[in-house]
This record gives sequence, C-alpha cells and structure tokens, in this order.
Amino acid sequence: MAEASQSRPLMPVEQALAQLLSLADAKPIREVEQVALADADGRVLAQDLVSSIDLPPWPNSAMDGYALRLADWQGEPLAVSQRIFAGHAPEPLQPGTCARIFTGAPLPAGADCVEMQENVEVLADGKVRFLESLTPEQNVRPQGQEARIGDQVLAAGARLGPIELGLVATLGHGHVPVIRRARVAVLSTGDELVEPGQPLAAGQIYNSNRRLLVSWLQRMGCEVTDAGILADDLELTRQCLARLGDVDLILSTGGVSVGEADYLGMALREAGELSLWKLAIKPGKPLTFGHFRGVPVIGLPGNPASTLVTFGLLARPYLLRRLGVSRLEPLRVQMPAAFAWNKVGSRREYLRARIEQGRVQIYKNQSSGVLRSAAWADGLVEVLEGTTPQPGDAVSFIPFSELLD
Ligand code: AMP
Ligand code: MG
Repeated sequence: MAEASQSRPLMPVEQALAQLLSLADAKPIREVEQVALADADGRVLAQDLVSSIDLPPWPNSAMDGYALRLADWQGEPLAVSQRIFAGHAPEPLQPGTCARIFTGAPLPAGADCVEMQENVEVLADGKVRFLESLTPEQNVRPQGQEARIGDQVLAAGARLGPIELGLVATLGHGHVPVIRRARVAVLSTGDELVEPGQPLAAGQIYNSNRRLLVSWLQRMGCEVTDAGILADDLELTRQCLARLGDVDLILSTGGVSVGEADYLGMALREAGELSLWKLAIKPGKPLTFGHFRGVPVIGLPGNPASTLVTFGLLARPYLLRRLGVSRLEPLRVQMPAAFAWNKVGSRREYLRARIEQGRVQIYKNQSSGVLRSAAWADGLVEVLEGTTPQPGDAVSFIPFSELLD
C-alpha cells in the first residue's frame, strides 16, 4: 500500500483528517442500545429525538404575581378569586377577577397576562391594584415555546452531555437510544518503557502515553482494553495483536519514527494493510494507519506531546466519526499572541499555550518530549505553515476543553 518516501511532500493536516474520516465512514459502529439517562453521559445519540409533547405543555407564569384577562379590565382593583401554585391545575378565571399565581404554575383559562407581585398594591379589602400599564402575554411562557409535538429537538450524532441530558429529561424520556461504546485497545511500544511505581533501570523511562490515552478514551466513553507495554520485537508484536480480539480500534504509540525498527509496521504489512504517513504537523509527523485482521490500527508517534496532539486532532475525530458524531471540529478562538514565533516551518505547529490577560502565551519549551508544556497550557495555538506570528497578531487557539472528552 501507499508508503510515503522521504522525497514526497508532507501530507497536510486537513488531508490526513479527511482520509481518516473517510476511513471511519467506511466502518461505522452502528449497534444501538437503550440506556437510562443516568448512564447516558458522554454517549452518542443514535436517532433523532422528536418531542412527543408540547413544551411547556400549557402556558405558565414566569413570575410570582397575579394573572388577569386584559380585555376585561378597565384599570380598577380586582378581587383575587383563586391561588395557583406550581404543580396544581387551575380553575378557569372568573370574569372580572384576578388569580394569585406563582412561577411555573399554569395560567388559568381566560387569563392572558401576569403582573409581577412587586408592581401591585394589595388593598385592605384584599383586592389588588395594578400600578403599571400591562401588555398581553406579559410574563407568560407560551405553550410550546421550547418545543412543539413533532419538533426534532436533538439530531442523531449529538453527544450527550449534561445540557443535552437535561433537555432529554425535559421531554420526559427516561431512556435514550445511543450507539454502543467503541472498544479500543491501547498499547505502548518501546523497550525503554516501565510502568509508574516500578524502579527505573538505566536507559528506561516511565510510560506516560498509556495513562494519557486510557484516561482520555474513558472520558470519551470508550471501553478500553489496556494492552500494556509491548517490547520492540516482531514476534511479540504479532502475538500481542493476535491476542487483542474483538475491538473497533487498536491504538498504539511509539515505533513509528523514521529509521526505527518498526515492528508494528512489519506486523501490519504481513497482515496486508499499512499506510505510513508523514504529516505536516508538529509535534507529530509520522503516523501509521493499517488493519490487522480487519481491525483498524492507528500508530501514533511516541513522544508524549506528539501523542497528545495527533490523538486530539486526528485519532479522536476518527473515533468519534466511527460513532456517527456530527460535530468534530474543535472550536478555534482568535486571540492576540503574547509571543513571537520566528521559525518559519513547513509543518503546522501546535504550540502548548494558555491565555494570560487576554493574550495567548506559549510554554517556553515546546519539545515534543515535554508533556509538562501541556500541563501548564490550557490549549494549543495553531501556527499555520510558513507563518511567523508576532506579538499582537491574531492566532487560533484551541482550548483543551474542546478536545478532552
Ligand atoms: P518512538 O516513536 O518509539 O521512536 O518514540 C519516540 C520518543 O517517545 C522516544 O523518546 C520514546 O522513548 C518516547 N516514548 C515512546 N513511547 C512512550 C511512552 N509510552 N511514554 C513516554 N514516552 C514514550
Ligand atoms: Mg520506540
């Protein structure tokens, strides 16, 4: 399969993303399950959600106050003929009277206006004098203002977070149809890797990518198979892949750098399908896409900041697209730079950055091996190929909150 040679130009980030998304479209995860709202946080809505009720089901009061019918009223004080609390059904309004009413209570038939209690005077005989001029529908929440029966309130592909779940609850659904969770296997390649908590021998480093990716995938609602550390060895790589079984994606880090003995690549090549991409992205650049016995495999570069950027900008949208998620583009905010970037690059750079006093500042050390840069940062500044932003220039800032769920 296509293999980028040294001489070939680097693949632009948009092109890599477009290819990944079309690969995702070719292998959608479609199985639907009904889950209780309490279990639906982070899941992907499988079908359009249509309201089966008017919301609100009846006109109701937006204020604590007095409901009346404007057409029948000449400005005189009105007797209070009933008190209507939220949760209680009112009687029709007696002509020539008003009703005491509380926020959220249904308007009585015949009333078309609510005056807030602060704008009335309650007289000694119990009648109510209205102190200001009134308009029809004042302080009334009309029936169906939020949704009418048959309105599509959420579209299939929406990710369900607290706001969407609140909306589903408003419509009265106790369960929602969602796409089943994606099953992702994570493996960390490298002879040098040791798990945290173990002593470090000479030449070893702690495995950070595993924790980074497993936690991130779990936040995304994935079922993660943590395949641990894979030594740089072809036979062990073959065995590890064969053991992974029934997953939707194998996600590995490390072993994709130029000139390295790339055991994952070798094993995938034996299995028949492999693309090695050289991307115009920094940190990042090498990325592997292949299949092992029909299961898609994405190999991310091993430097922790590269793993972060390539997962967030490429592998994450790929995975969400497999689940049918409609909104994949992270929000980019235009902010003035507080820094000068003078290195003209042929790759798009994602600098770890944060907002300080309304301007974007970057971490002093942007090495792809320095994950601390990302912990310091609140997001990524996107520096386009060939550009050298200067202090005060508008730059694109992608908050981590756009990527980290
Ligand atoms: P590689 O792509 O295997 O050449 O790795 C590139 C760099 O990332 C090397 O310095 C590796 O030691 C480092 N690295 C690879 N995997 C991990 C990992 N799981 N955690 C921390 N660093 C890693
Ligand atoms: Mg390695």
